[in-house]
Amino acid sequence: MARDAGPKSARPGAECGDEKCPFHGSVRVRGRLLVGRVASAKMANTVVVERELLKRVPKYERYARSRRRVSAHCPPCLQVKVGDLVRIGECRPLAKTVHHVVIERVRPGVD
Ligand SMILES: [Zn+2]
Repeated sequence: MARDAGPKSARPGAECGDEKCPFHGSVRVRGRLLVGRVASAKMANTVVVERELLKRVPKYERYARSRRRVSAHCPPCLQVKVGDLVRIGECRPLAKTVHHVVIERVRPGVD
């Protein structure tokens, strides 16, 4: 259960038998919540979420844009596509590079 996923993340209408689903499996969300855009959905039940950050450059006293990518498990009940804005929550390690899970589709992608 995504009991720490926040009040805004409604339980999805669809069911799934995914053990790594925060709603229908045993994965619990704890730690950080992030919002980002789905950059790739080519892996099985895993998406790459990209976030744009502003990093301060002290030498020039300005901000530089940078991007950071996070792999996140995406349960089949959420039907996430490339371009969607999603909320992901930190969870236990689900694979070598995956320790976040998609808990909500914030906004569908335009493309
Ligand atoms: Zn599910």
